[in-house]
Amino acid sequence: MFSGVLRKGDDHNPKLVHELKKHFVNLGYLHPNKLGNQTNFDNHLENAIKQYQEFYSLKVTGVVDINMITSLRIPRCGVPDFSSSQTHFKSLYTLYPGTPRWDKRRLTYHIDETVTESEKAGIVQAVRAWEYVTHFRFYYMSEIGDTEPDIKISFMRGDHGCDDTFSETSFVIAHAFPPPVGVVHFNAEKAWATDGTNLYAYDVFTTALHEFGHVLGLDHSTNTESIMFPTIVKGQRKYLHSDDIDGINALYNLEKWYNI
Ligand SMILES: [Zn+2]
Ligand SMILES: [Zn+2]
Repeated sequence: MFSGVLRKGDDHNPKLVHELKKHFVNLGYLHPNKLGNQTNFDNHLENAIKQYQEFYSLKVTGVVDINMITSLRIPRCGVPDFSSSQTHFKSLYTLYPGTPRWDKRRLTYHIDETVTESEKAGIVQAVRAWEYVTHFRFYYMSEIGDTEPDIKISFMRGDHGCDDTFSETSFVIAHAFPPPVGVVHFNAEKAWATDGTNLYAYDVFTTALHEFGHVLGLDHSTNTESIMFPTIVKGQRKYLHSDDIDGINALYNLEKWYNI
């Protein structure tokens, strides 16, 4: 059992510091980019602790003491504290600089021959999920004729003309571009699955949902629960989160659309 106090600069309990950092990332208090040395009680951890103490009405000290540890051990909902715009903290979604967006409601999309039928079904399901929460209507174009589709989806390999080169070992599993480009590329060198339960492959639906967020104009969110959080692990299935919906609402002022 922990007793005593732990403050910035202390190095006698690296295991606890590591646990706290992990915990604060999960709860939305510490951005994964600010993890630094995982066993180092640094400024970022101190700030996370202060925010936590403020949120839970503890004395704001930035120091880990028995009150803090007791509070952290209370069973809680898994939704991070920074997930809702109803709190006094701002939403964590972000928009691209200059807020590029589509100026039309009807968008066409094409899925090319690099995509299998089951992968295609996962992508279409993701498109429907966005359609459900926005004013957009998506139309599938099976063939590219005289008119170019607004959005093109393919699985690519290696150096394919984008900044990211897709390989089996690269960190990037997919990428997409903000409006009005409408391009989504999945890394074909990675293992993909469509049932959302395969622990050895990335989920097409979840990834498509994320990449379509970019296509519609959302940038990454620091909310780990949001679909726009930048990382995904194998076997992980996620759905749209209120942070994503807040973001798309803000970008397109959707209330205006729903009220006509
Ligand atoms: Zn690409
Ligand atoms: Zn992304």
